Amino acid sequence: MAKRALITGITGQDGAYLSKLLLEKGYEVHGGVRRIGVISTGRLDELDVTDSLTLHDFELLEESNIRRVLEKIAPDEVYNLAAQSFVAVSFEQPIYTSNADALGVARMLECIRSLGGKSRFYQASTSEMFGKVQAIPQSEATPFYPRSPYGVAKLFGHWSTVNYRESFDMYACSGILFNHESPLRGKEFVTRKITLAFARIAAGQQDVLELGNLDAKRDWGYAADYVEGMWRMLQQEEADDYVLATGETHSIRSFVEAAGRYFGWEFGWKGEGANEIGIERKSGRTLVRVNPAFYRPAEVDLLIGDPAKAENKLGWKRSVDLSGLVELMCDADMKRTKGGPIAF
Ligand code: NDP
Ligand code: GDP
Repeated sequence: MAKRALITGITGQDGAYLSKLLLEKGYEVHGGVRRIGVISTGRLDELDVTDSLTLHDFELLEESNIRRVLEKIAPDEVYNLAAQSFVAVSFEQPIYTSNADALGVARMLECIRSLGGKSRFYQASTSEMFGKVQAIPQSEATPFYPRSPYGVAKLFGHWSTVNYRESFDMYACSGILFNHESPLRGKEFVTRKITLAFARIAAGQQDVLELGNLDAKRDWGYAADYVEGMWRMLQQEEADDYVLATGETHSIRSFVEAAGRYFGWEFGWKGEGANEIGIERKSGRTLVRVNPAFYRPAEVDLLIGDPAKAENKLGWKRSVDLSGLVELMCDADMKRTKGGPIAF
């Protein structure tokens, strides 16, 4: 019989790629979607999976709703991807972020436990929990030091997952995933903001790209690789926690430069801090400008993960490097700017 999976946050970037992966593996895939006006199935439509899924109204803040959905589906595997996932918003909405990203995980775990604890559980944890990093690179053994309400809330979710595994013998895994991007990444995240803006500038639809801190460094992988790692975590004999990362780090400035090269632009940088601008050398046009409105109240300066445990125990390895990722994202945004309104 086909395995049954529930993916919360199925309309997000990872939800879309994971749906496709599980369908290809023969799963019966159920997804939790929230009712905030129109349900945004744009990403699922782009991967052509919407009609193969069963969607359920789902809200992380509503425990009785979570319980009913779990009871009805009785999933073999639950992937808890739903979250308020944007760090910058978490500084403006810390209470809501905690409710969804921290208590939401406790609600999920508690419902699974009270229904017999049989569903295997994946929690979408994050490198943001390392925050002000205590070691370089960061592994499963690195102490946490979150720097945002998002990181703090996700840390509660991580420890709750570990605690339910240890207390109630549940198969519960926390995947500590470093940033992963794709053409389906939300427009507010820096990589997609850059590739979309450059595609628009190239098409004459935008003049300049405004960014915040250009010197923060991230370990960016490709989302489709990372959902494969999530699935592998739930196929082991014993539940455990794993870092998924590329083991490389690049600054926002280098991502800008790499995306620029795709469009045939070479950048020269002028000024400092909030006054810095990026000038395209051949045309002399200013295409990038720093706007302090995009600075964070507390920054995570450097993330670089050590994926050795996932590589050794799960046989997982990323397949796309930074230049491959930039190309995938720029290609997709170039095509989109030529079409109608961009759905996500
Ligand atoms: P997205 O922001 O693209 O997707 C988040 C999903 O959660 C959306 O489907 C959204 O629904 C849903 N959601 C938000 N709030 C609620 C709520 N209160 N109740 C029910 N559903 C809700 O995130 P990603 O796909 O990029 O990430 C997936 C998960 O992995 C998230 O938990 C994220 O925090 C975590 N993560 C992501 C990383 C990354 O680099 N992408 C790195 C490490 C962890 P809607 O469509 O209605 O908005
Ligand atoms: P995060 O790692 O989950 O916070 O992912 P983001 O893509 O939102 O941000 C990655 C890094 O890019 C952070 O250090 C931000 O401060 C930095 N950054 C610089 N300019 C921007 C911007 O305009 N938007 C976003 N989202 N991040 C920016």
